[in-house]
Amino acid sequence: MNILVTAGPTREYIDAVRFISNPASGLMGFACAAEARRRRHRVVLVTGPTPVPPPRGAIHVESTAEMLRAVRKHFAWCDALIMTAAVADYTPAHRVRGKIKKGRRSRTLRLVRTPDILAALARRKGRRIFVGFAVESSRLVAYARAKMARKRMDFVVANAPSAMAGTRATVTLIFPDGRKFTLRNAAKTAIARRILDHIEGRK
Ligand code: C5P
Repeated sequence: MNILVTAGPTREYIDAVRFISNPASGLMGFACAAEARRRRHRVVLVTGPTPVPPPRGAIHVESTAEMLRAVRKHFAWCDALIMTAAVADYTPAHRVRGKIKKGRRSRTLRLVRTPDILAALARRKGRRIFVGFAVESSRLVAYARAKMARKRMDFVVANAPSAMAGTRATVTLIFPDGRKFTLRNAAKTAIARRILDHIEGRK
């Protein structure tokens, strides 16, 4: 199969040196890409800026708009899309040129929504398999199910915010037919194996 994986955070710049982002390590996406390669699938990995160095050959992006462009470019090619990326949901309404000068007053930052990559591609899904992630600090399963339906995911990997930066995580794989399995304190490499098992099972 041809598998497109996204990883890491995206960055939304406020000015030349400041940005909004999150602590995603990229490890979940790198583990999925490595496991898919090990199983002889063809893999394209698109990654935001991560603290952990990505594997060679990865396509590097910064903003959500750039990630959307890279995913669109490889979408026709792929049979499965694994969206592990922790995409920034908001971007500053205006990016200031140069560096904002610090003043005495407080400032207000107006934010607008970024494009939703999975939702944007859901209409053209065809027979592709979509795997999404959901990070929630409350009502994990209910919110994850709602996302799965809205973004036409074949299954969703739900986890708490603490999973984002570490090498291990407790995750729940949730399927549209109601099945769900929890992997407790599992290595991300082991979670990647389970994800690939389910993708191959649905081929
Ligand atoms: O709605 P939420 O951001 O929690 O959905 C999470 C899933 O959707 C993840 O798989 C994430 O990669 C993807 N996503 C996206 N585009 C966004 C935000 C999230 O594709 N702008």
